[in-house]
Amino acid sequence: MNRNLVITIDGPAGAGKSTVGKTLAEEISYVYLDTGALYRGVAYRARQEAIMSNDVEGLSRLCGKITIKVKPVGTNVRIIVDGDDVTDKIRTEEMGFFASQISAVPVVRERLLSLQQEIGRTGGVVAEGRDMGTVIFPHADIKFYLIADVNERARRRYRELIERGENVEFTEIQRSLSARDQQDSGRSVAPLMAAEDAIIIDSTALDITGVVSAMKRIISERSGNGL
Ligand code: C5P
Repeated sequence: MNRNLVITIDGPAGAGKSTVGKTLAEEISYVYLDTGALYRGVAYRARQEAIMSNDVEGLSRLCGKITIKVKPVGTNVRIIVDGDDVTDKIRTEEMGFFASQISAVPVVRERLLSLQQEIGRTGGVVAEGRDMGTVIFPHADIKFYLIADVNERARRRYRELIERGENVEFTEIQRSLSARDQQDSGRSVAPLMAAEDAIIIDSTALDITGVVSAMKRIISERSGNGL
């Protein structure tokens, strides 16, 4: 198959982008780029330095000095921020929410722009986030936009967090996801939205295998090569 495609997956929190993206990348031997983890990494450092989400100057200072490395380990990647491997520490719902707040600040988005584009430069990448098909890779070969009913997304996120040993309330997850949807769609820079040429997949009634198979079929048809 064509090894150099740029495949993007955008969509709201909890739609299954990460699991689907990771599985798809593994199955077609592509690099998986989880851009939410980059925003979470910046959020993690901002939290450590007690920088608030509305402190544009503080965030600007942080973005001027922060070092972010994406280190491939097998088919996975580790996120190293200022020498600290934050990959596992950034996965809480609280950090997702804070990441959503700081990601509305233009200086934060600018800081991560070239880093993301550099990783996708040579292709062979499945890039997942909110603005992959609209801003970061507007010329991507194949763009997916993954959606799911908000209650189903909350159920999935709840199960995931409980399995990880977090002490969370289902209604709190529902509330947080809805608030995050509004925040991510309503911001003025790079809002969450489907690119005009994106293929929309509703995963409400589909499991991971179902979504990945649908994507592989489309990639295969579009790229003119069997996967
Ligand atoms: O996908 P994940 O939940 O890890 O993303 C955390 C937050 O980072 C999102 O709610 C969103 O506000 C922000 N984000 C973004 N652009 C991306 C990826 C994530 O604004 N490409």
